[in-house]
Amino acid sequence: MVIVVGSGAGGATVAKELAAKDVTVTLIEKGPWIEEKDAFKHYSNIDSEVKVMRTFCLGGTTTVSAGNGVLSALLRMLTERKGAKIITGMPVDEVVVKSGEVKGVKSGDRMFSDDIVVLSAGALETPRLLKKLGLPTTSNFLFVDTFITIGGFLEGIGFNKEVTMNAAIKFKDFLLSPHFSSHLVDEKIVKGVTNRDAVLLSEGASIAGSILEEAGANPSTFVSTSLRGAHPGGTARIGVSLGNNLETGVSGLYVADASVLPAAPGAPPILTIVALAKYVSRIIAR
Ligand SMILES: Cc1cc2nc3c(=O)[nH]c(=O)nc-3n(C[C@H](O)[C@H](O)[C@H](O)COP(=O)(O)OP(=O)(O)OC[C@H]3O[C@@H](n4cnc5c(N)ncnc54)[C@H](O)[C@@H]3O)c2cc1C
Repeated sequence: MVIVVGSGAGGATVAKELAAKDVTVTLIEKGPWIEEKDAFKHYSNIDSEVKVMRTFCLGGTTTVSAGNGVLSALLRMLTERKGAKIITGMPVDEVVVKSGEVKGVKSGDRMFSDDIVVLSAGALETPRLLKKLGLPTTSNFLFVDTFITIGGFLEGIGFNKEVTMNAAIKFKDFLLSPHFSSHLVDEKIVKGVTNRDAVLLSEGASIAGSILEEAGANPSTFVSTSLRGAHPGGTARIGVSLGNNLETGVSGLYVADASVLPAAPGAPPILTIVALAKYVSRIIAR
């Protein structure tokens, strides 16, 4: 029997893979079970100089991801064909360990007992749970893919709804991608950052502005969002917080989410996280 904490790219994959191998799985998710169309209502962003983006709901941040249909594919398989038990609205507060072995997890007064636990609460929450156990984390090395969205008014185009980000123009150190953000109309621009990323962001923003201008948008209407960061990771790195088998220093306690990535992959990470989750599932099933 296995407990999986969190149902995003990592957790949903582990639950699906293990359930397919007839392992009894309990998937415990902090957020609610939602309709996919409502995913944007479940952002739980962290306000810092760069606003770090994530969602708390069944399916995790995959529910708002642009280029992957992982959420629906995984959850449909999980709920319709496989027998994993899914509990929503249940935030795990602590992992229970005795004599160096995992015994389960707690949410408030409720105890869920099991001798294998996989933490997949995402790069910002998994390290909190590890820290409570005194296990090493690499929270100081949190990485994100920082971006801004630039917009301008082009009369008559009617292009004011969410658009997919599947098209991209690659530059040496950054990429441009179409994106509409409601923040363009209700947030101020944040300026003043001086690091290399800010230089790259400015370069990208200026090219994006040129593209808008060439397309006929009025430059006096151009606006930009504040700095935002998607794809947080690297906070419980493989080789530091975990062994090569993604097991922590506590026997039976594994991690399968973006926190294990040793460096920013330089590309959207869902498929990498799914691959790591499949890898740890095979180890656990054995
Ligand atoms: C707008 C946007 C677009 C994106 N587009 C893409 C894309 O096109 N392609 C791509 O590859 N990536 C994309 N990403 C990134 C991708 O969604 C994330 O990198 C990925 O989902 C991270 O997976 P994860 O398993 O680490 O965490 P998450 O998917 O965030 O899952 C963590 C889960 O754990 C739950 N949880 C947290 N704490 C607890 C707790 N204490 N107890 C129980 N449950 C808990 C959360 O509710 C959540 O369900 C995008 C991200 C954003 C914000």
